[in-house]
Amino acid sequence: MALAVIETRKDVQDFSVTGTKAGLLCSHTFIDCTLVIPGTDETLTMAMQVCTKIEELKRALSARLGFIEPDSLVFVTRQGCTFRKMQDSDQVLRRMCVRGIQSFKPPLHKYEHPYGVIGAGYNGIKTALFLLKDGQSDFILFDRYDKIGGHCWLESANKTTRLQTEFASYHVWYGTHWSNEGVKECGGVPKDWEIWPTRDRILEHFELCARDYGIYSHCSLGVNVQTVDLVGKPNDADRSFQFTCQPVLPNRKDVQGGEKLAHQKQENQSSDGYAAGFKRDKSKDPYLFTCSCYCMWPGNLTNPRQVTYSGEETFGGFVEYGVEMRCDYNNVIGQKVMIHGHGAFTMENIRTCCEYGAQHIWVVCRKRNLTCPRVVSWFINQSSPAITGAQCLNMLQQAYKYCNYDVWDMHSVNANPLRTTAAFQQKTRFGIGDIYFLSCAYGLTEIVVDEVKRCSPGTVHMASGEKIEPDCILKCLGMLPDWTVDRVCKIKFLRGLWINGDPRRFTCADPDGIYASNFSGTTIGPAAYSWVKLMKHVWDCPNEWKELDDAGYLDTLPVKYANEPEPDTPAYFINARHANGASFTFSIASATLQEKSANDMDYKHWVVNYCTPAEKIIEAAKKEWDDYEQSFRDKGMVPKDAPYIEYPYTVEYIEKQHKVHKEEVEAIAAKRR
Ligand SMILES: Cc1cc2nc3c(=O)[nH]c(=O)nc-3n(C[C@H](O)[C@H](O)[C@H](O)COP(=O)(O)OP(=O)(O)OC[C@H]3O[C@@H](n4cnc5c(N)ncnc54)[C@H](O)[C@@H]3O)c2cc1C
Repeated sequence: MALAVIETRKDVQDFSVTGTKAGLLCSHTFIDCTLVIPGTDETLTMAMQVCTKIEELKRALSARLGFIEPDSLVFVTRQGCTFRKMQDSDQVLRRMCVRGIQSFKPPLHKYEHPYGVIGAGYNGIKTALFLLKDGQSDFILFDRYDKIGGHCWLESANKTTRLQTEFASYHVWYGTHWSNEGVKECGGVPKDWEIWPTRDRILEHFELCARDYGIYSHCSLGVNVQTVDLVGKPNDADRSFQFTCQPVLPNRKDVQGGEKLAHQKQENQSSDGYAAGFKRDKSKDPYLFTCSCYCMWPGNLTNPRQVTYSGEETFGGFVEYGVEMRCDYNNVIGQKVMIHGHGAFTMENIRTCCEYGAQHIWVVCRKRNLTCPRVVSWFINQSSPAITGAQCLNMLQQAYKYCNYDVWDMHSVNANPLRTTAAFQQKTRFGIGDIYFLSCAYGLTEIVVDEVKRCSPGTVHMASGEKIEPDCILKCLGMLPDWTVDRVCKIKFLRGLWINGDPRRFTCADPDGIYASNFSGTTIGPAAYSWVKLMKHVWDCPNEWKELDDAGYLDTLPVKYANEPEPDTPAYFINARHANGASFTFSIASATLQEKSANDMDYKHWVVNYCTPAEKIIEAAKKEWDDYEQSFRDKGMVPKDAPYIEYPYTVEYIEKQHKVHKEEVEAIAAKRR
């Protein structure tokens, strides 16, 4: 078992004293003390000062075990042919038995009622994996849909949507217990999966995981959790939460284009629109479910922002939203398309329009947001430790040169004049995709930074007075969160990721935007892994939360109310800064959580490189780039004799970036020394 150090009195001693005072000095020498739990083969070796007292060891071990009652620990030593119970005032010995515990791992707190998990999307499935791993099989996973996979992939995605980040850092069974060598379920590490699977394959992967890990038997699908009520007082040890569960009829589209569903038709609907789209199942009665702890994973990419332009009815061409399978992309074949918005969905729509042979694409946006090439996303996701903002920008520039754009000048970048440090702040996440750069390089895609003022027949008029003449308009204006979440869970505020500051009520929904000066991920895999770990750690070690709270450590957790700090946002809707602050504050305070997470970055590096080594990602991304080059010519989108554009990244380039990364890490470490 890992070594720990107990160092109690080194700094409070005055070794210059003489006489009787010197006799009171404690030994400065350290010894290795090995603790043994009788009846098990578990041992724990800790470096301790010789003068350490049993009372001090009790307190240290209690903290390590999630702040169990220190006096429940009994230390015993062998004395001749008998055993002696050690007193609090005794000094520690090199070998001691500990009674009162079964393991050196913190015990899992036992609650009276089951756990409740709301949302069977990515995060809900991950929660189920964590609970089952620890034998905590007393839980129910609720979702309104009749299938697992979540709103993002069941409803928001198009048939044509592909994963933008690599499967290696995304797959839902990502984590040392499930995606590792020797694990049979789901085939273990997914090194033979596609790097960027389609929406249908992503849904298959959720189902594979749920089947192989026995998650289905814990699912209540087609059930809307209508309200969650607190039973008891907020601080009662035996408080519980009562869900009112309403069976509903799934309302899901599975065909691209064609007739829209009722909830998709509403223009300018309130952001409650989506949840309201589920119809009550009149053949089934509502029922109650009681739990001791619950988590709500509602996602926040729920309702597409809907906008109707002035004069839109006169435009005369095809106008549709580029999400939720609403668009029949046959309408863009050979056409000039305006895509409105510059977020992640825009990347998918540029790709799809290019695949369907659109003639020209204008991306109209108020602000140009950062777009990440596939290889840069991969490099970030495999990095351990994180790469600096400056390295990230230099890597991005390698592709941005094809757009004749200096990425260091972007509104979201805050850099020093020497361009050696950079921080990012933007309200939208990275869109990831190479075709953005390729199509910009050919002039097929053009970025128009402006605002749409109105439409007239065949024309879109901009606020600047400029106009464009597209045949079709695809709206990709971002997603709005779902206000019903605050109402269902009666959220007054979030303290960190805890509803109303209660450690037994947790929520986290796709934190919005980018706020960072270094990058270790563009993908949900490692993030969800750490959120669920954090949530479960607090459930499993409730005493630690109390200790940290009493000591004031949790006072610095970020707090979020509805409409504050960002207007028009429910309390549950957090941005990346809030999410990072919450995880960071807790991890700094909790040594036990730090220990549980110590290998997470190394694991991330290993799993990404194991499934998708540099050669593999470069080969796949380059092949896709070359295939698009060919298809542009075949479809007459660019002249057949147009010069080919080289894929901007090579294996040698990546090797060089690894060196840059290593040097930067060493330089930072040297500064700290
Ligand atoms: C099209 C698309 C592509 C994406 N691509 C990537 C990518 O390439 N890489 C990446 O890292 N991330 C990507 N994302 C981000 C995505 O958010 C995550 O991958 C993930 O799917 C989020 O899962 P979730 O469980 O938090 O939320 P969701 O998938 O939104 O699931 C939330 C679930 O909660 C249920 N629910 C909510 N309230 C209730 C209630 N009261 N009662 C019952 N059920 C309820 C909903 O029905 C829903 O199924 C993408 C997102 C979208 C939309």
